[in-house]
Amino acid sequence: MAVDHNKKDMDIDNKGEEEQKGKPVMVILVGAPGSGKSTFCERVMGSSLRPWTRICQDTINNGKAGTKPQCLKRAAAALKEGKSVFIDRCNLDKEQRSDFVKLGCGAQVDAHAVVLDLPAKLCISRSIKRTGHEGNLQGGKAAAVVNRMLQKKELPKLNEGFARIVFCHNENDVEATITAYTALGPLDTLSNGCFGQKNPDAKIQLGIMKFLKKVEAPFQCAASKEVKESENLAKGSVDADVSVDEITTLAFPSISTADFQFNNETASDIIVEKVEEFVNKLKNARLVLVDLRGLRCNVIANAANWRLKPGGGGVNAAIFTAAGLALETATKERANSLLPGHAVVVPLPSDSPLYTREGVSHVIHVLGPNMNPQRPNSLNNDYNKGCSILREAYTSLFTGFLSILRSRSKLPRRISEKLALTPLDLKDPSLDPRNHLTNSDQKIKRDDGCVYERSKKCKGANDETVADISAPSSTYGKVTGDKSKLEGPTSKTWGSWAQALYHIAMHPEKHKAELLEVLDDVLVLNDLYPKACKHLLVLARHEGLDGLADVHQEHLQLLMTMHAVGLKWAEKLLHEDSSMVFRLGYHLAPSMRQLHLHVISQDFNSNHLKNKKHWNSFNTAFFRDSVDVIEEIKNHGKATIKDEDFQLSMELRCHRCRSAHPNIPRLKSHISICQAPFPHALLENGHLVLALKT
Ligand code: AMP
Repeated sequence: MAVDHNKKDMDIDNKGEEEQKGKPVMVILVGAPGSGKSTFCERVMGSSLRPWTRICQDTINNGKAGTKPQCLKRAAAALKEGKSVFIDRCNLDKEQRSDFVKLGCGAQVDAHAVVLDLPAKLCISRSIKRTGHEGNLQGGKAAAVVNRMLQKKELPKLNEGFARIVFCHNENDVEATITAYTALGPLDTLSNGCFGQKNPDAKIQLGIMKFLKKVEAPFQCAASKEVKESENLAKGSVDADVSVDEITTLAFPSISTADFQFNNETASDIIVEKVEEFVNKLKNARLVLVDLRGLRCNVIANAANWRLKPGGGGVNAAIFTAAGLALETATKERANSLLPGHAVVVPLPSDSPLYTREGVSHVIHVLGPNMNPQRPNSLNNDYNKGCSILREAYTSLFTGFLSILRSRSKLPRRISEKLALTPLDLKDPSLDPRNHLTNSDQKIKRDDGCVYERSKKCKGANDETVADISAPSSTYGKVTGDKSKLEGPTSKTWGSWAQALYHIAMHPEKHKAELLEVLDDVLVLNDLYPKACKHLLVLARHEGLDGLADVHQEHLQLLMTMHAVGLKWAEKLLHEDSSMVFRLGYHLAPSMRQLHLHVISQDFNSNHLKNKKHWNSFNTAFFRDSVDVIEEIKNHGKATIKDEDFQLSMELRCHRCRSAHPNIPRLKSHISICQAPFPHALLENGHLVLALKT
């Protein structure tokens, strides 16, 4: 039995999971004093079926503080006996961890890191208050020590040799991780990957920083100042009179550094080298080294697999999902496979959601060298070969991008201006950027002439794949669509598909058949793509309220009305089926314009609930309970809109028992039988609406 097969969005290779069964694990705890490392170990060891040994430097020497070599020796012995091991030390820097990780390699044991990255304030206050601490770190001196250690902390990365890293940022995360390790029986395994990291693209930061340092001076230009730093830009030269939106942008990842385990440092040197080589040829274009969240770009580089298939858990899968079947078909038309070091340019068909929604005109698949011995055709650490293939990969990628630019530069100005608009605006096939690519090398087939026809087929607001939350994260609170027509009160712009609720709220008379109730301030309707047996929306009828970000003190009454109406409908539905449980709340960054309250039953039994984003949008902090929002508006006059986008890619956890699951089907089969009580936080303060017990 495998209890938890958590998969990270990215970079997970599940092959070999079978062979791994029954292995001991070494869990290296990483956290400041007061972060709860010892409690974590005690809690797991108190109820686990697996034999564990806790190695604590504070007590290793017959109950007294000892040395790191003593810890290593004891850990090695325990692993040899087949026991799993907790390394209960701060382990806040890579060097401290590395000897333990090496120990795992020798003993054929998976090394895990559990990072207790809790707020410094909490660690300090706990350390100050405690008495009888094993390491005598308590009272006044604790604060200084914790502070000093946290300043120097170096978070672990998979390339240190860890098979799995879990980041815990709060008590709930810690609880969930304790549950996962407690439930880990002797034959169970936990999936490999990195979970809960707030800034998952940290691994490419090194490359970005290096690049910016090196290229900043030669490429400073007027327009580059307009470019937001958060977009992690590797800038090309840019004409001052061209707005950032009009610049053709290639978004590319750091190739081979994730799945294929290419050394980060070497890879970033190659990126710098290759970008320097190409950047002068770009003119009005830019290269962005980044992951793809929240980015506006016209061309996406996809670090593909050699079969050019959607598989894997990473960015490759995400791009294929976002682009829909259209990308698969278009890719097949151009190539069936790819050799390392090569790239293939694929114009996106006009029915691809990535094209209609985000204006991405091309995907360039590129394959880098594989340094990961767990994957086929590894280069066995041959960095001579690896570097040369990686250079070829970037050359092919940037050459492909240049071919797109060249074809665009042949367009008349009128057309180039149009390129900044969404494809929905392209009534004239000649205006379609994809129709101006000439790439003789790849003899790419064109879909000339059928763009308008296909545009008409473009899926609109009634199409689930476009309108609902299966959209890529960039849809959340990000700019999409035709600016001129679709702007709302916040700085956001909404795609036409995202306006359906707004139109209903403004013109309920045209949508009578869809509405359950129409009142002066609100109206109620069934969610068109319900994510549970019962899923209603209570829609505000006020102009100027796109989402929570627009809500202020003066809207308190409206929020209370929305809540009361939602509650009334939940109670009505409970009357029909008293076994149901409802939750009322808002998405922090909605995908649809016009403030709407979700009233959703907690069975999540629906075929429309298809992916991680669907689940996490209702079961993480991305979902703000209506009662909490009301309190917040009462007390602070506005709702806190933190950037919680990362919540959408968190591992899948049961909303009742918080167990983790590898995919939606497994999660669904679990929740269909899970009878665990809901977490306390949900049971309190009216977060859940249940039938009264008679
Ligand atoms: P949010 O992420 O909070 O913006 O959620 C928007 C919700 O609206 C999703 O649950 C969609 O399934 C739902 N939805 C999208 N289009 C429509 C529509 N035309 N009528 C009713 N519900 C819709």
